[in-house]
Amino acid sequence: MRTAIYPGSFDPFTNGHLDLVHRAAKLFDHVIVAVAKSEGKGPLFSLDERLALIRQSIQGEPNVTADAFDGLLVNYVDQQEGQAVIRGLRAVSDFEFEFQMALMNRKLNERVETIFMMPKDTYTFLSSRIVKEIARLGGDVSAFVPSHVGVALREKLGPIAPKSS
Ligand code: ADP
Repeated sequence: MRTAIYPGSFDPFTNGHLDLVHRAAKLFDHVIVAVAKSEGKGPLFSLDERLALIRQSIQGEPNVTADAFDGLLVNYVDQQEGQAVIRGLRAVSDFEFEFQMALMNRKLNERVETIFMMPKDTYTFLSSRIVKEIARLGGDVSAFVPSHVGVALREKLGPIAPKSS
């Protein structure tokens, strides 16, 4: 049984995250989308809300589940008897931080491999932060997130602003 852990804040889950989940689900027997509590980051969505949005997004993926974790990622990977951590690389700007994290995680636990995956090119510009920013300004995010995430964003941040003529 090959298990991969896909960790992140997922505040909220986007089509870029979903693209990576689809790819990882083809390579591993089981993929766990692991939501970091990230209270320090002051998330827009609570942990339970983020988990519910992810669970709705992965309904069509029988070998993907969602879970919450706190503390060291490598300890969580061990606890789940996982072999790998999945991380997304969108642009060179992601590389520096991800490289440092991957090597640190290897120092902490030699057994855990980090696998970097690239999303479909149309999602390389997409981040949860940008999606929240657009939604906050009344922009339409329907191309960037699953439809129920778009609804949840509007409930939190208000309706789409009318187009000015
Ligand atoms: P963080 O771990 O910084 O809280 P996120 O929750 O935003 O990050 O994302 C979790 C993981 O998904 C990270 O590896 C990030 O690089 C990756 N990711 C985020 N958005 C995309 C995207 N549009 N395409 C591919 N990977 C992405």
